[in-house]
Amino acid sequence: MTPTLWNQAVKQDGFYHIYNLDCGQIPSSCQEVVEGLPGPAVLHIKGMSSVCRVIVTLLHGDEPTSLRTVLDVLHKNILPATNIKIVIVSVDAAALPPLFSHPFEPGKRDLNRCFREPFLYQDSHPANNLYRLLDGLSPECVINLHDTASGVPSFALSMNKTPAHVALGSYFCDTLIHSPIIIGALTDLPLEGPVVSVYTPQNAATKTNEKLTKGLLALWQDKSVQGQTEVQTISQPRRLELRRSAALTYSDKPVFGVNCTLRNDIESCSFVTLQPGDTLGWVDHNRLDHFRIVGRSNREQVSTFFSANDNCLTVNQTTTLFLLSKNPELAKSDCLFYFSAE
Ligand SMILES: [Zn+2]
Repeated sequence: MTPTLWNQAVKQDGFYHIYNLDCGQIPSSCQEVVEGLPGPAVLHIKGMSSVCRVIVTLLHGDEPTSLRTVLDVLHKNILPATNIKIVIVSVDAAALPPLFSHPFEPGKRDLNRCFREPFLYQDSHPANNLYRLLDGLSPECVINLHDTASGVPSFALSMNKTPAHVALGSYFCDTLIHSPIIIGALTDLPLEGPVVSVYTPQNAATKTNEKLTKGLLALWQDKSVQGQTEVQTISQPRRLELRRSAALTYSDKPVFGVNCTLRNDIESCSFVTLQPGDTLGWVDHNRLDHFRIVGRSNREQVSTFFSANDNCLTVNQTTTLFLLSKNPELAKSDCLFYFSAE
């Protein structure tokens, strides 16, 4: 961060606030921003009306494409229709070497699973700080930007699917996943306006995401948030979770001694329609006992959706997977993936 810009920062309730931001002063590389900021920051951009829209970015420190795209939009120096607050969250995790490789600091929890008790109400917890910030701003809408694997289409995710949620999602993508399962994500927050997470494919090196740029520019300049394109909703997908005791790895063949091996190219299955018998990976002699299904009723059987014949983990029905994580720690503590089955 340039020293002049940095001198304007005011520390308050866990964030470094930069008021009346002059967009021309913002460094153009996300590396400079992360290395220059001493912690989570809020950039306040004055617009034509006092309505407030919030853009949350870098909730995960290893997702620079969204931040880079936000910086690119800032540099266009366009007066927004409303006040805009850009919240750059996991600066500390992002700044750990190698830069942009840590979703959160080692030994800490995934922040996007902390927006629930007890963390949400713990004084000075980053989740509590962010909740109080957002609640105090009474935003018209909040978008929470995440990077996802490259090659995957952009999609949005929300707790509710009111017309306001769908309209907000339509700025960025044509698919909205409506997932009412409480997992402690930012989208769970009980704010007045819609909160939507937007996932855009990660780009290498210095590239921004064109579709995200377009969506942000439209949201920047529209006087009211209104539907942009037709949005397909995927309602109430289920989660496939791995039991705590099971070990997990990713490989192109079963790994001896590991309870569950998922295909190395599992991310390429995102939003691809899988047919009965298609392989996701391999399991040991405990077969489907390693898994549980979460999302609808408590009684759903793993065997309704998946099989483990000859130790091969396959799907039983026409199935679409999404929100796959290839980070074994995250996949184990959260879920292997979300899926919808016909
Ligand atoms: Zn993320």
